[in-house]
Amino acid sequence: MHELAPYAVSSANTRGRRYVEQTPSYRSEFQRDRDRIVHSTAFRRLEYKTQVFVNHEGDLFRTRLTHTLEVAQIARGIARVLGLNEDLAEAISLAHDLGHTPFGHAGQDALNACMSNHGGFEHNLQSLRIVDRLEERYAAFDGLNLCFETREGIIKHCSAEHAAMLGELGERFVDKTQASLEAQICNFADEIAYNNHDVDDGLRSGLISLEELQEVGLFAHHVAAVRSAYPDIGGRRLIHETIRRMINVLVCDMIEKTASNITLHDPKTLVEARLGLPLVGFSDELREAQRELKRFLRNHLYQHFEVLRMTSKARRIVSDLFGAFISAPRMLPPQFQDEGNQPRRVADYIAGMTDRYAMKEHRRLFAVGEI
Ligand code: MG
Repeated sequence: MHELAPYAVSSANTRGRRYVEQTPSYRSEFQRDRDRIVHSTAFRRLEYKTQVFVNHEGDLFRTRLTHTLEVAQIARGIARVLGLNEDLAEAISLAHDLGHTPFGHAGQDALNACMSNHGGFEHNLQSLRIVDRLEERYAAFDGLNLCFETREGIIKHCSAEHAAMLGELGERFVDKTQASLEAQICNFADEIAYNNHDVDDGLRSGLISLEELQEVGLFAHHVAAVRSAYPDIGGRRLIHETIRRMINVLVCDMIEKTASNITLHDPKTLVEARLGLPLVGFSDELREAQRELKRFLRNHLYQHFEVLRMTSKARRIVSDLFGAFISAPRMLPPQFQDEGNQPRRVADYIAGMTDRYAMKEHRRLFAVGEI
């Protein structure tokens, strides 16, 4: 492995696992975490969960799995060049969306509304619940028994109320310190990945056009540069070459801005790197460019009437399922029947569904003539 900076998380300075295990023979602690995540059931389900487009709408759109792989690729590259722990960045990236419901944010909003009197539903916390409790793969413990730093990195945001419940994992939200630099990088890598792949998927779907995208400075700049260098270019190749350049410029900017923040604040240890303002970030110019892109996607893609039709249907499916199971818990598979905290187990069941499984289950429960 490359040389780690003194402010990186290392296997040697990990705060460890909840259940003590022997140090792996041929892997670092964070390689082991990554491997456990890749082998989990929740990870495989990401393949059939919506990012923006419902999984069956087209074979070429991103799913949560391909999104997750793009995040991991971006985060690893940045972590390595900054002397940070690439294995940890990869592990956090691969786990960051495990807790998502079917149908993307629409599914989460609906489930959160259903759970409003039962502690709510939040995908970050659900990701943690999966790796801490729900995966059943090991004889000695529930969950994957990941290291503190991987678990902490999964919690991107958190309310004060939840932070108090999370104990040491929620500490940084209470004492206002920052996540590890590796975790900060994953959050940005997530944004870089989805903003750019949503442009690609949005164009592919025909819901947004190259003309509309001219209002986004970052896109307009790069598409013009590509056209001037390759006057005959068009079609998919023009789009891909433009998006490739956008990702590259965002990644390079983040590396340079973060490196300069590190030089300025000169943290000597991991603890020092977590004090004060976050050290990972974009330059002012690129931060604004990225915000503009995000606004565009919100107005033109996520709020597009065809996407809204899908999200409204998704919300209805999730709330119908929740209502049906809460009113008749005996209809749940036995392992999800739990008089102690039935709403949470219903949420676990629904959140674990893939898009098509949720639709199938909805048909089974509500379609007359189906069994
Ligand atoms: Mg994500």
